[in-house]
Amino acid sequence: MTIWRRRRLAAAGVAVLALLASATAHAQQQFSIGPITAAPGTVASGTLDVPARGGDTGTSVPISIIHGAKPGPVLALTAGVHGQEYTPVLALQRVLRTLDAKTLTGTVILVHVSNMPSYLARTIYYSPADNKNLNRVFPGRADGTLSERIAFVLTRDVIERATHVVDLHCGDGNESLRPYTYWITTGPPGVADAGKQLALAFGLDHIVVDRERPTDPAASVYLSNTAVTRGKPALTIESGGLARTDEESIATIERGIAGLLKHLNMRGDGPPPVENPILLDRSEVLRSGTTGIFYPAVERGHTVAKGTLIGRVTDFHGRSIEEIHAPFAGEILYVIGTPAISKGEPIAFVGAQSK
Ligand SMILES: [Zn+2]
Repeated sequence: MTIWRRRRLAAAGVAVLALLASATAHAQQQFSIGPITAAPGTVASGTLDVPARGGDTGTSVPISIIHGAKPGPVLALTAGVHGQEYTPVLALQRVLRTLDAKTLTGTVILVHVSNMPSYLARTIYYSPADNKNLNRVFPGRADGTLSERIAFVLTRDVIERATHVVDLHCGDGNESLRPYTYWITTGPPGVADAGKQLALAFGLDHIVVDRERPTDPAASVYLSNTAVTRGKPALTIESGGLARTDEESIATIERGIAGLLKHLNMRGDGPPPVENPILLDRSEVLRSGTTGIFYPAVERGHTVAKGTLIGRVTDFHGRSIEEIHAPFAGEILYVIGTPAISKGEPIAFVGAQSK
């Protein structure tokens, strides 16, 4: 062997080593959450344990990891934060069946039912375990009540592990709702704009601009805001309601997720972002001042003028005790669609574009 040939072989060997090193650096590793591990290009499902404490029985959170063959963003999709919100739960079952890990870039974490106690008891808003709203106790506490411990596990094992978080809701069992997205404008630089891009990619044409979320990561309150206060773009979406499982609302969520996957370059094909969305700069939850029987006077999606009657409340003997009117002109994003109403509870949500 000539010296020249030996040198060339040595150079080729170095090149091969360099290639191997770079392939290792960019190769997809396995992805684990708690006891659940997914190899590249595979799907793994299991449950996260929320151990018993303080006399309650604890609970579990069923999740799936769809781990792409190639590294990329880690998108967390959470469903079932509220007990009677079924369309996101069913949409994620479809994503689990149809999303191909082999061709996916990055990783999708599916939280199938975030709030198992509320789901199994079919309660709206509040957990039967501690009477708390899971979406008001983030980032949770390891030593708290059951809802607080669920929030703690979701923060540690899902939100902290993700690069992007989308919390999927619909109207709860009592809410008649038209689809919309919450875009959170607070958070570290760049996060709000990335959140807006997520909202556009999800594709709903009504976007509530939310400027009021807390900025303290230790008191983030809401699931999606827990991600935002940790520097991760996040979104809350609403599609469906009244404990229904209608195809249109489920398909809307599926389409939105497909738009997110395309936007994040996790999958090649997907629907385009929404063009010319309606940004609702002003929005207000209207609340009942009394307890009794609620009669809505409007429907979801109705346009109302300032002062329009939204609904009235009677006592249990049929006497009218309260009328609730629109505080400004706008659109009904949701209105309560069942009779039971307690003092302080929402009766409708009105949004409007700024003039
Ligand atoms: Zn909800």
